[in-house]
Amino acid sequence: MKYCQQCAADLHYRIPEGDDKPRYCCIECDLVFYQNPKNVVGTLPIFDGKVLLCKRAIQPRKGKWTLPAGFLENGESSLEGAIRETDEEAGASVKVSANSLYTLFNLPSINQMYLFFKVELENLDFEPGIESLEVQLFAEEEIPWKEIAFPVVKTTLESYFEDRKNNVFPVRMFDVHHSADKVISTTLISENKV
Ligand SMILES: [Zn+2]
Repeated sequence: MKYCQQCAADLHYRIPEGDDKPRYCCIECDLVFYQNPKNVVGTLPIFDGKVLLCKRAIQPRKGKWTLPAGFLENGESSLEGAIRETDEEAGASVKVSANSLYTLFNLPSINQMYLFFKVELENLDFEPGIESLEVQLFAEEEIPWKEIAFPVVKTTLESYFEDRKNNVFPVRMFDVHHSADKVISTTLISENKV
């Protein structure tokens, strides 16, 4: 970010008065530009015990399988965004029941938060959207584990198949850290004993 979005003057990266973190500040109109984490929202669509996955048509991880998900838009609730992404990427309509929120991932290293909602497919009328090469239902034994695009997707799928044994699906929250050598660690923090 280089120029003020309000008056087009230069920005300086400095700690504004009364703040404790550096921000982009306009040298003319004093406007401060705050940068905050982005929310990614998606669904875990289920039909007859199978899970709907999309093969990515775009980078990153082109050709790998993922759950339908994308950035939350302004003016949208998290669930609305997840349903929209499911329609855009998989052409799928879903049924949402109460307590559909399923996994939450904090990714402070890359300034993102992911939310996945567990939903049921309305029907089998799905087709790849512009960001997907293929859309397909997978039984547990068919999941292409080595071809899953993102760790948050893998963890959500693993949680689902584990929770399904008891047919209880609590909200699971994880912290995901990316180390300097790109090793990703995922820690379940919603069940920590006090
Ligand atoms: Zn300005």
